[in-house]
Amino acid sequence: MKTLKIVNPADGSLLAEVPADDVASVAAKAARARKAQPAWNATPLAERIAVLTRFRDGVAAGIETLAKTLTQEVGKPLAQSRNELNGFLGRIDFFLADVTNATAPETVFGDASITERIDHDPLGVVANISAWNYPYFVGGNVFVPALLTGNAVLYKPSEFATLTGQHIDRLLHAAGVPADVFITLVGTGEVGAALLDQKVDGVFFTGSAATGAKIAAQMAPRMVRLQLELGGKDPTYVADDADPRAAAESLADGAMYNTGQSCCSVERIYVHEKIHDVFVEHFVATVAGFKSGDPLVDGTYIGPLTRAPQLAVLDQQVADAVAKGAKLRTGGKRVEQPGNWFEPTVLTGVDHTMAVMRDESFGPIIGIQKVAGDDEALALMNDTRYGLTAGMYTPDQARAAKLLGRVNAGSIYWNCCDRVSPRLPWSGHGDSGVGVTLSSYGIQAFTRPRAWHLRQA
Ligand code: NAD
Repeated sequence: MKTLKIVNPADGSLLAEVPADDVASVAAKAARARKAQPAWNATPLAERIAVLTRFRDGVAAGIETLAKTLTQEVGKPLAQSRNELNGFLGRIDFFLADVTNATAPETVFGDASITERIDHDPLGVVANISAWNYPYFVGGNVFVPALLTGNAVLYKPSEFATLTGQHIDRLLHAAGVPADVFITLVGTGEVGAALLDQKVDGVFFTGSAATGAKIAAQMAPRMVRLQLELGGKDPTYVADDADPRAAAESLADGAMYNTGQSCCSVERIYVHEKIHDVFVEHFVATVAGFKSGDPLVDGTYIGPLTRAPQLAVLDQQVADAVAKGAKLRTGGKRVEQPGNWFEPTVLTGVDHTMAVMRDESFGPIIGIQKVAGDDEALALMNDTRYGLTAGMYTPDQARAAKLLGRVNAGSIYWNCCDRVSPRLPWSGHGDSGVGVTLSSYGIQAFTRPRAWHLRQA
C-alpha cells in the first residue's frame, strides 16, 4: 500500500506515516460520491444547515487539539493556528446565515401569461484541491458552501496539511455529513491529477499559479466549472501624507504574518521618497522585534517555512537582488538548524529587474522601493502578472480612491492589508486565478442556474 510521510517542518522529525490513495482508490471514491449526491441534495436545506452547524460546534470544541496539529504539520505559530480556527468559525457562520438567501428561488418576471424563475441547483460532485498555508480557510471556502448547496465533495488536502484534512474529515462525518458525500483523498499532486481524471462537475483549486496552469490545461477539453485561486505579488504604496511609523508596523505584520506564507501577504512595498527613510527604519525595527522559534511556544511569531524547497527560492531572490544593487537591511540567509528556517529579511534599493519584486516569494522576505509619487507607484503596482490584492496608506480617501480604483487586483485595501472577509468576494486578476469564493457569489459558485419559463396550460 502507498503511504505518505508527514514531516514536522520545525525540526524535520517524522510526525506520522498515513495510507495514501492510488488511481484505483480515487476512481472508487469518485463513484461513491456520484451515487450519494442526489440523496444529499434531496435533504432539506434546513437539515444540511443543521449538520454544518454541528460541524462548526465540533471545530469550536476542538480548537486546542486542531491548532496543535496544524502547528506541528505546517509550522504555523500556535497563536496564528488558533487565529485561523477562530476565523474559520466566523466564515462558517457567514455561510450558514447567507446560504438560504443566496440560493432562494427568484421569480424575476410574472404577468398574466408567463412567470420566469431562477432556481439554484448544485453542480453535483466537486473536486476540492487545497493548499497547506491556511487549510481551514481555503478548504472551508469550498467544502462548506459546496455541502450546504447540496454537492458531494472529493477533498484533496495538501500533502503538507494531511493530518488537518483528516481532522476535517472526522468532524464533518461526526456532525452527520454522510460518509460518501464528503470523501478525503490522501496524497501528493499525483492523487490530485488522478482526481481530475474522474467524472466531476466542478474543480475548485487553491495553490500555485504553476499548478493552476497545469490543471487548466488538463481540464480544457471538458466542460466543467473551474475555479483557480492562485498566487500573488501583492503591492502596497505608502504615500507621503501617511504616518510612516504606523504604516511600517502594519505592513511588517502584513509581510511576515504566517511567516510570509499567505496568498495575500504584502510582497512589495513602494514608499514615497519624502518618508522612505523613516519608514524603513521603523519597518526594520518592527521586524527585529518579531520572535522566531519553536512554533508550539506561545509568543512565537515567525516559524519555519512549511516546504523545504522554498528556502532555495528565497536564497536565490536575495542573491539576485544583492547582485543587482539592493541593500540587505536585515536577515538574508537560512538559519542553520534542523527544519526549514529562514531569517526575516528586508531589502531596500530594489527595482523591477529583481526577482524579489516580480516572483511570489512566499516567505519572510520583503522588498521596499522608493518612489517619487502616485503615478510612479501605480505604474509599478500594475507591473505584475498577478492581481490578488493591493493597498495604499494615506489619510486622504479621495487620493486613495483615485489610485486604488485603477489598480489591477481583486481586493483593495485602504490603510490596511493582509485581510480577508467572508462577506466580500475573494477573487484574483491575471495569473492570480479565475472564479470567486466567499460572499454570496462564493456560495452561488457551487450552483448552476435553472431558468424556468412557466406558462399555465
Ligand atoms: P501547490 O500548487 O503546490 O499545491 C496545491 C494543491 O495541488 C496540493 O493539494 C497539491 O497536492 C495539488 N497538486 C499538485 N499538482 C497537481 C496536479 N498536477 N493536479 C492536481 N493537483 C495537484 O500549491 P501550495 O504550495 O499547496 O500552495 C501555495 C500556493 O497557493 C501559493 O502560490 C499561494 O499564493 C497560493 N494560495 C492562493 C490562495 C488564494 O486564495 N488565491 C490561497 C492560499 C494559497
